[in-house]
Amino acid sequence: MSRGRGIILLGSTGSIGRSTLEVVARHPGRWRIIALAANSNIRLLLRQTKIFKPQVIAIADPGAAEKIQETFRTWNRPPRVLAGRQGIRKAATLPGADLVVSAIVGTAGLLPTLDAIRSGKDIALANKETLVMAGDLIIRAVKKYGVKLLPVDSEHAALAQCLRGHEGVPVRRLILTASGGPFAQVPAAQLRKVTAQKALRHPTWLMGPKITVDSSTLMNKGLEVIEAHHLFGIPYDRIEVVIHSQSIVHSLVEFIDGSVLAQMSSPDMRLPIQTALTDPERISGMVKPLRFKSGLDLSFGPPDHRRFPCLRIACQAGQRAGTAPTVLNAANETAVQAFLDRRLDFMGIPRVVSRVLRRHRNNEKANIKNILKADAWARGAAKEAIKCSL
Ligand code: MG
Repeated sequence: MSRGRGIILLGSTGSIGRSTLEVVARHPGRWRIIALAANSNIRLLLRQTKIFKPQVIAIADPGAAEKIQETFRTWNRPPRVLAGRQGIRKAATLPGADLVVSAIVGTAGLLPTLDAIRSGKDIALANKETLVMAGDLIIRAVKKYGVKLLPVDSEHAALAQCLRGHEGVPVRRLILTASGGPFAQVPAAQLRKVTAQKALRHPTWLMGPKITVDSSTLMNKGLEVIEAHHLFGIPYDRIEVVIHSQSIVHSLVEFIDGSVLAQMSSPDMRLPIQTALTDPERISGMVKPLRFKSGLDLSFGPPDHRRFPCLRIACQAGQRAGTAPTVLNAANETAVQAFLDRRLDFMGIPRVVSRVLRRHRNNEKANIKNILKADAWARGAAKEAIKCSL
């Protein structure tokens, strides 16, 4: 059996999952994949299984799990198959790995991540929804079980690197950078008519459909403000967002003395993934070097809240705390899906999310039960709001 640190990869067929496996393959012997978990993409999962030889694979879609079992009949030493959401949760706690890469998209990532923390595993967190929905609860669990929570989101990986070595130094501001998305230059009057197809063409980052739409509305940045608040324990009024279209500076920290530290690189998710996997070490990477001498212009400016109201809506929900961020996230997921299915126009996303938040009776006590209840309620309320806005 090969040596190396055992890793469980949740969401292996998505954008972050695939990049994680590229990083793992690049450094043979350093890591070994104990389990791969995916939603339903069997073809890719089979290919990954052949290469990385996990002991276990988990598939959320039970039908897909059955199909893959069939294929494994002809294999010599097939992995064990776990099916359904429970199967994913079980995979998240398997022995033999002490690091879980949490890269399932959306709400579905919450419970497996919490299970992994409770079984004492370090978390490389790409699923920001986990912290948005249940930030206080997750941070408490991380402390209680003494595990590391390593951000994979490029902005938060940047902040963590800038803060490293400055423990106890007062921070004046965290500054998150945003590319501005594909519609940064589109006038307000035309935003209503932009299509899902156009939203999926992100100028600097290659990502899955949900997060790409979130980037185009700036909701992604709003979710990241909430994520940063929980990860670094900084109050909302000291977290700022600036538009930085080149996506080279991944975020900045301003300390009490006015000094600002930034982390920079070409935009490539494999770098923050690797930084999390090797923490606190650094090893040779795959990212293209920055070419300063051929000219490198970096620009910064304010976000346009009028054209992209989702950013403010998200920050306000974060400040309301309780179950409001859960409702924000669930309403947004529902609205984004409707936009992708062409049942909602682009500006309908902030309209639906704020309507649902206005109707929500906030529950201060954000335990798992209340969080899941608020999540389900918000999805229903968002569906109603979408129907009304047709
Ligand atoms: Mg990000």
